[in-house]
Amino acid sequence: PELVAPRAEAVVDLDAVRHNVGLLSGTAARSGAATMVVVKADGYGHGAVDVGRAALSSGATWLGVATLEEATALRAGGITAPVLSWLHVPDEDFDPAVGAGVDLSVSSREHLAAVLAAGRRTGRTVRLHLKADTGLGRNGAPPAEWAGLVDDAATAVASGAAEIVAVWSHLAQADEPSHPMQDVQAAALDAAWRHVRERGFTPLRHLANSAATMTRPDLHLDLVRPGIAVYGLDPIAQPSASPLRPAMTLRARVALVKTVPAGHGVSYGHEWTSTAPTRLALVPAGYADGVPRRLNDAGRMRVRIGEEIRPVVGRVCMDQVVVDCGDVDVRTGDTVELFGTGEGGGPTAREWADELGTIHYEVVTGMRGRIRRTVR
Ligand code: PLP
Repeated sequence: PELVAPRAEAVVDLDAVRHNVGLLSGTAARSGAATMVVVKADGYGHGAVDVGRAALSSGATWLGVATLEEATALRAGGITAPVLSWLHVPDEDFDPAVGAGVDLSVSSREHLAAVLAAGRRTGRTVRLHLKADTGLGRNGAPPAEWAGLVDDAATAVASGAAEIVAVWSHLAQADEPSHPMQDVQAAALDAAWRHVRERGFTPLRHLANSAATMTRPDLHLDLVRPGIAVYGLDPIAQPSASPLRPAMTLRARVALVKTVPAGHGVSYGHEWTSTAPTRLALVPAGYADGVPRRLNDAGRMRVRIGEEIRPVVGRVCMDQVVVDCGDVDVRTGDTVELFGTGEGGGPTAREWADELGTIHYEVVTGMRGRIRRTVR
């Protein structure tokens, strides 16, 4: 047991993950769909193996990741559930993932050939998810290349080298539930899937990310792939209106407290100067840790200290920020919440994202090196 709390830590609440996965997988199950929880980018910064285990204990039956290394790391962490990996360069070493029974997405004949070669080397039948570009314009075979990809996959199945597990795609505009693109993409996926069916295969279909899982039951198909919502960050609603529970709290401990007179400038460039005597708290987390320097440019970064919400003043530095505590009784070692669940009006990852003109995905995946992760 540790006697002293870390200087700065991202605390991950796995109960919240289980709550969110229970909600999402329950919603999917009502449409007859299974749930693949997306744990790429180290579980959106929350810890892929820990989140993966929590998800599989609360309603998910699949995990999804981008890279081959992310997939084999789940296996190394003892996870035996189906895992899909979807972002590869064709000359990567596919053998460890294929050898570990990881399902692989293929978007082109070139990718398929690379995966089949790994199957031959490892003596494995490769499990394929054929990806169609139905409109996102990112990964996936465009319609003109679909028949060729399916031809090659069918040949591989006939020789026992492969199994076509699924036909799938990814949505471009899911955070606008009634955007017409959803239906365009669903129809394109259906056409791609029917083409494969006509060849005598019965693959699964999957399309829905968090937003579509939460708002478009008609797009659940056989399997949904929520990511951000698993971490309690609502893709659409503000935190106060969301049934999800944010899983990550970023906090740090006060390194120094001092009282300064009126007229004392704070941080580089003196963008803030005290107008009355006040108490300042030095908080040891800065832009090298994932607190963006731009965050306080308009002076709107807030932290929670106990029940009090107080402003960060002056510029965010590489390793630290300064909080104007007024007459709040702050002591060194006290815990400061930089973002969390939003309880008590506290700051949230969503609030950071709104201030920065980005999305909360970027906030939680941006916690870096010196921020200790504590999983509870
Ligand atoms: N499926 C794919 C292919 C993805 O790349 C992602 C993440 O961007 C997801 C599903 C999960 O998306 P979200 O986090 O919006 O639920």
